[in-house]
Amino acid sequence: MSSLFLRTLREDPADAEVPSHKLLVRAGYVRRVAPGIYSWLPLGLRVLRNIERVVREEMDAIGAQEIQFPALLPREPYEATNRWTEYGPNLFRLKDRRGGDYLLGPTHEELFTQVVKGEYASYKDYPVMLYQIQNKYRDEARPRAGILRGREFLMKDSYSFDLTDEGLAESYRLHRDAYVRIFDRLGLEYVVVKATSGAMGGSASEEFLAVAPTGEDTYVRSPGGYAANVEAVTTPAPPARPVDGLPAAQAHHTPDTPTIETLVDFLNGAGLGRTFTAADTLKNVLVKTRAPGSGEWTLLGVGVPGDREVDMKRLEVALEPAEVALLDEADFAAHPFLVKGYIGPSALAANGVRFLVDPRIAPGTAWVTGADKPDHHVVDLVCGRDFTPDGTIEAAEVREGDPAPDGSGPLEAARGIEIGHVFQLGRKYADAAQLDALGADGKPVRITMGSYGVGVSRLVGVIAEQSHDESGLIWPRGIGPADVHVVVAGKSEEIAAGGERLAAELDAAGVRVLLDDRKASPGVKFADAELIGVPTIVVVGRGLANGVVEVKDRRSGERQEIAVDAVVEHLVELTGTR
Ligand code: ATP
Ligand code: MG
Repeated sequence: MSSLFLRTLREDPADAEVPSHKLLVRAGYVRRVAPGIYSWLPLGLRVLRNIERVVREEMDAIGAQEIQFPALLPREPYEATNRWTEYGPNLFRLKDRRGGDYLLGPTHEELFTQVVKGEYASYKDYPVMLYQIQNKYRDEARPRAGILRGREFLMKDSYSFDLTDEGLAESYRLHRDAYVRIFDRLGLEYVVVKATSGAMGGSASEEFLAVAPTGEDTYVRSPGGYAANVEAVTTPAPPARPVDGLPAAQAHHTPDTPTIETLVDFLNGAGLGRTFTAADTLKNVLVKTRAPGSGEWTLLGVGVPGDREVDMKRLEVALEPAEVALLDEADFAAHPFLVKGYIGPSALAANGVRFLVDPRIAPGTAWVTGADKPDHHVVDLVCGRDFTPDGTIEAAEVREGDPAPDGSGPLEAARGIEIGHVFQLGRKYADAAQLDALGADGKPVRITMGSYGVGVSRLVGVIAEQSHDESGLIWPRGIGPADVHVVVAGKSEEIAAGGERLAAELDAAGVRVLLDDRKASPGVKFADAELIGVPTIVVVGRGLANGVVEVKDRRSGERQEIAVDAVVEHLVELTGTR
């Protein structure tokens, strides 16, 4: 450490909110260059490489073959799949000196498809699985939490190419199992949840989420084993009911009731002969959407039961790849038929605004909703009789206690960080590239693909997020920058020589060791050792005169005195080096 390129910091960086970001910067693992763009310093790079090695070993073990594409890519392949446009503002685009369009690859489906098409022709060539571990570029709207959400980040992405659906299912299973082994080896606490496939298209899709209260993803679980990202939760719709015999819709003067709460209070005091709750009201939220590549915003009404909010993330996913935004004052001013607080389905229909509703708003259900003029609401407005939505949308918030869609019990929610994603793409990219194999019967067979990603650089942050205490990081064995941290605690020549000798012997025995031979006080060295987080700390100090050193477990804090002549053996054993 006297020559290691490392400066630790006593203070948290001002821009850091989550523990992993604070600690990785303080311990000198990474340094910020620009928002979402980080440099890896020696300790950080070691951890990154260790994780990369685990990922590579498990990918090789399932027979995937490593290749490497450039990150700088021409527009054409992405034009063919329409992703040049669909990827929207997240894509880093650039021009070369001749004015040609290029991009920095955000993900590489197109390139993998192209390369397989170039090399393979016959059904005998298939199946094949290819992967790379490479930097990806995405101009994320909200780069965040240091390396957890970067704009340049290291990803392992792999792709499977199969002749049949059964083949794809098998490639998918191989990847899923490999991911389980990778994340187990990294000592992570994680869940596998049902996911949406987003802009990629495709069908079967699962995410691996590391459990973390600071995570950006919310997932739900039921006692009966249902698990899904909230983005992928579907709402069981009540059966359609006949509208015959239902009371007629009635407009009411409801003064000063712009919120659901004031409306419900008013209705319950109005002597209508029944009790209303927020769940009896229909709340119509107006947003605007814009298809990728188009400059035009279009209005969209989203109807949800009044006791629920619209979950913007679920709404965004439901409308992908279109962009979505809330209306501003100027939008309301431009559309006077939108009476804020009193918007009802009638004005939307009359003005050609698309209206999508939560599945609970099923045919035959009756609602209290806005009457399109200030201080007025309609009671008993029946879906399918008095208004006809243009379709349903999964945009309402999912709440704890909601029933799981498969009937397996009430949902419970928690937060996580996406560390991996496996999904069956199907034939979308093969269709775009016309990727066929010549079948045994001489007829072309369209290839079916799977796509599988692991956030390699994100994992450094995720492990730090799950494994730290107030003093610093705590790495799992085999993943940290070293497995043993030898601290020379004392000024004497004997102690310094003892520390060096021990480090050299450990090194010779194949133990990854970090030696703190700096001319600093023991207090500074202990604090740095705790901060850096190597799982075993060996203190070579005064005890050396009596032939002992202290071995401390970073996680439990447990200390043990061990005879100097037995300590190498002990540590070789402890670190599993043999
Ligand atoms: P997210 O929802 O977190 O943006 P994603 O769905 O865009 O992720 P994929 O395109 O499936 O992610 O990428 C595969 C993996 O790459 C993810 O599971 C995640 O671990 C990682 N990853 C994605 N975006 C980033 C990022 N901006 N910084 C670091 N890692 C990322
Ligand atoms: Mg993303």
